[in-house]
Amino acid sequence: MQIPFTACPGLFYSTPAQDGLLYRLRIPGGIINCQQFQTIADIADNHGSGYIDITNRANIQIREIQQSINIEVLKKFQALGLASTNAKIDHIRNIMTNPTAGIDIEELIDIRPLVKDWEEYITAHSHLGELSAKFSVCFDSGGKVSVRYQPNDIILAAELNNSNVYLRLYLSYGEKGEPAKDTGIVFKPEKAITVLEALAETYLKHIDTKNRRKLRLREIINNITVKEYLHQVQENLNPGILKITKTPLRAFAPLREKTHIGIHSQRQTGLYYIGIVLPLGRLETSQIRGLANIAKRYGDNNIRLTPWQNLLLTDIPQNQISEVEQEITNLGLNSSPTDIKSFLVACSGKRGCAAAATETKDDALNLVKYLDSLMILDSSVNIHFSGCSKSCAQHTQADITLLGITTETPGYQVYVLGHLLYEYVTIAKIPILIPEMLAVYQKQRLNLQETFGQFIQRHSHQLNQLFKY
Ligand code: SF4
Repeated sequence: MQIPFTACPGLFYSTPAQDGLLYRLRIPGGIINCQQFQTIADIADNHGSGYIDITNRANIQIREIQQSINIEVLKKFQALGLASTNAKIDHIRNIMTNPTAGIDIEELIDIRPLVKDWEEYITAHSHLGELSAKFSVCFDSGGKVSVRYQPNDIILAAELNNSNVYLRLYLSYGEKGEPAKDTGIVFKPEKAITVLEALAETYLKHIDTKNRRKLRLREIINNITVKEYLHQVQENLNPGILKITKTPLRAFAPLREKTHIGIHSQRQTGLYYIGIVLPLGRLETSQIRGLANIAKRYGDNNIRLTPWQNLLLTDIPQNQISEVEQEITNLGLNSSPTDIKSFLVACSGKRGCAAAATETKDDALNLVKYLDSLMILDSSVNIHFSGCSKSCAQHTQADITLLGITTETPGYQVYVLGHLLYEYVTIAKIPILIPEMLAVYQKQRLNLQETFGQFIQRHSHQLNQLFKY
């Protein structure tokens, strides 16, 4: 099979890593049914090492595969709707949406049909396989569990305008790592696929499809200006579809990721969803099968993967919540919003990535073990372990960032809210240092409501004195 020019893993072509082959399954919108989930467990058992990782785009990665997955297995995946019927688009980034789409009590529109329509559109148009593997599209429903701040090239975010729902267009341009910016353009949801088509076709006109490294949308817009790019997009559309809005952008509070962890009522009366903490997005195959059984027995037969590497069980009747909680506990999992693991993020680390200076996942899990035995965390603190400065696992700023570095022996630089606190800490010292920092915060914060971030900002001029090491 012809392999697209991409370094990103897919299902139809694997990526070698230190610990074996890595396969990635795109799960558009992160929604997967029980049968699909169980089949993935079988593959991880038969071909991998008995676990999967949920990624920060709600993909599934199966790692440590020693022999390529054969064509019969791929056909089985296709029959189950787990693999695209068009291998040419398999490398394109997973379509992101709110994990609570269709059930969020605050959402303006059920955005799931648009995710499905865009997936079907790119599947049916093979030339879109020329898009950069990093060409990323996100649909935000305007709900409580927002994804409008997640890193994406294109974000279509629902908002109310004179009592009508419109989608506002955000595009990625400017400096690398900057969030996508509001273009001030809105359009009707029913035009979403037409607009995306025009955005994609305009992008394709500017890239050299033979070049192995395709320019990102951000780079193209930086080259020609956002005004010119939008002008060219407009030329591909019927007049009147895009409107310049005079309504200023409503201020949205950035999501504290824990919002979706725990038990939450759905917009459907009497039904609840439960956000479950996964340690670093990892699930053993026994847990996959257990969760699939719970979803089948108590829920709607689906599991929703989140861009925060956790998952949701949905449509749980109120009178069955405690039974479901018990079943979750029996699987060695929990739904506590203050569990340190619900805010812990790590990239694949040395075993999975040649660029990594450290074994991020192992170091993060060691920290958790130590923390669990030492203290109860009564508020959530986002800790991010990154094997190098690319920050694949989390592009937004964490409360505490540990950046792997190699000096004589590998260790970490430690940052709080992006401020470098320690130049070098040995791996062995991390499980001692971080609990000490958290203890300083818990002892000296103004009250229980003061978040770690607010605490750091209040002490921003004296951080080195505060966290003496
Ligand atoms: S952050 Fe760096 S080390 Fe970690 S997966 Fe990305 S490239 Fe590899």
